Amino acid sequence: MPDQYTFDNPVERYSRVEPPIQHQPVPGVQAQMTPVPDLGESSYRGTGRLAGRTALITGGDSGIGGAVAIAFAREGADVVIVHLPDEQEDADRILGLIEDAGQKGHSIAADITDAARCRAIVDEAVSVLGGLDILVNNAGKQVAVDRLEDLSDEQFELTFRTNVFANFWLTKAALAHLPAGGTIINTASLEAYTPSPERLDYAATKAAINNFSKGLAQQLAPRGIRVNVVAPGPVWTALQVSGGVSDEQMEAFDDESVYNRSGQPAEIAPAFVFLASAESSYVSGATINANGGMNTP
Ligand code: NAD
Repeated sequence: MPDQYTFDNPVERYSRVEPPIQHQPVPGVQAQMTPVPDLGESSYRGTGRLAGRTALITGGDSGIGGAVAIAFAREGADVVIVHLPDEQEDADRILGLIEDAGQKGHSIAADITDAARCRAIVDEAVSVLGGLDILVNNAGKQVAVDRLEDLSDEQFELTFRTNVFANFWLTKAALAHLPAGGTIINTASLEAYTPSPERLDYAATKAAINNFSKGLAQQLAPRGIRVNVVAPGPVWTALQVSGGVSDEQMEAFDDESVYNRSGQPAEIAPAFVFLASAESSYVSGATINANGGMNTP
């Protein structure tokens, strides 16, 4: 059975997605996508890299966060995932996979755009896990709007609350629990450097996440807590089918990277595993760009 260590041509590891045009209301249910993204369910092979660790992953029900939850569990971590109430079907499936890996799994249905809710999420995760070693801020909001005049004040604020403010609130609450050796991994995007004209709010939040993470890494280094970022390129997830891209962009989604195909969440998760595990002990304030070969600064 091929796994993430199989030596092959990365460009040909997956076929082009060539998605049929499809629409779902925000936040999108992965189980209803065509095709359903690959989260590494049948390919991710753990080798004990996170044995005994505890992790909290936002947006862990689907897409990149779901792939990270599967990978962390197979590496030996207990995992709490956070998702929106409408995504219970996706969350239950990931919980089943965490338990199949022999680890403790727990899901929290909560909206992270509220500061008090973020503090409660961390409290619940710590109480279930008996501590917290790894925080993955992965939940994200992305809605494409062509013209600035049509970008509502409400959307602009909600994108920042979801992608930036929640990251701040969750991190602040988690710091009361993270030990030396603990890690924070934030999720930016290729758009942090090359903003799309129709995703101004989203791209700006991703630039903020990169910048915030680099500053925080310096602040927390004396405490032995590392802060890093994963910046994916175009990856086939529910974000795309719930308003993240226009119909034209969905049709051309495979053409965005130099691999000439979309990425799959299963290909992004190993970067999170590396940053979460002690093998990356001398890495902090870094961004791993997992984007199919696109140029970054
Ligand atoms: P996804 O839709 O599968 O995951 C996003 C998740 O965010 C949702 O499952 C949902 O649970 C969570 N979320 C959104 N708003 C929330 C809220 N208010 N409260 C609680 N949870 C909320 O899509 P994905 O592509 O896997 O996204 C994961 C991360 O990857 C995001 O930060 C996204 O910006 C980033 N990213 C994705 C791509 C891509 O092409 N897919 C590229 C670069 C970066």
